[in-house]
Amino acid sequence: MQVIDGVIFVPGVGFNSNIYIVGKEEIGIIDAGASPNYVSHVLEKMQEFNLSKNNVKKLILTHVHPDHIGGVPGFVQTFDPTIYMHKEDARVLYQRFADRMRLLEGGETLTIDIFSFQVIHTPGHSPGGICLYEPRKKILFSGDTVFSYGNIGRTDLRGGNQMLLIRSIEKLLKLDVEYLCPGHMGVVRDGNSHIRNSYSFAKMVF
Ligand SMILES: [Zn+2]
Repeated sequence: MQVIDGVIFVPGVGFNSNIYIVGKEEIGIIDAGASPNYVSHVLEKMQEFNLSKNNVKKLILTHVHPDHIGGVPGFVQTFDPTIYMHKEDARVLYQRFADRMRLLEGGETLTIDIFSFQVIHTPGHSPGGICLYEPRKKILFSGDTVFSYGNIGRTDLRGGNQMLLIRSIEKLLKLDVEYLCPGHMGVVRDGNSHIRNSYSFAKMVF
């Protein structure tokens, strides 16, 4: 499914995270699913939308959990991309892929084709979680920080922190989001109201 021109949604099946294909002439992929052969779903979608696999230059990982990074070896083999990830979540992959990794801190601007993403550090679900926001397109890739319909990322995994998750959602409240593209569940419009619901939910349960 195409979210907007230049952004394709590959829904996560089973244990796999959602994956997003961003750009055309230059392509960045956001998250990698759980298993190396999951890359075949992405290749199928690229074929369907007439995108060349040679244009894939960047793989951006929203955080370290296995349902988002388990597929990385398959993506590396298929696309030979540079991998972008927050430094606080990067240790596991850095041991294997150091030479192709660029470590993020938050606050950077990451360009993919015509898109210019703000990297927002959003710890809470994991220490090095990030969201990617494109202000001109009003699109937010929220990883597992918030999901559609007021859902939030769990904080009971290693490095999770309820207070930090609330602070992170507060960062997202300041954005103007039309398209919310989370790491699991569906893509929705009127992202602002979904994020507000996530915030209310987090304040209620934590
Ligand atoms: Zn996660």
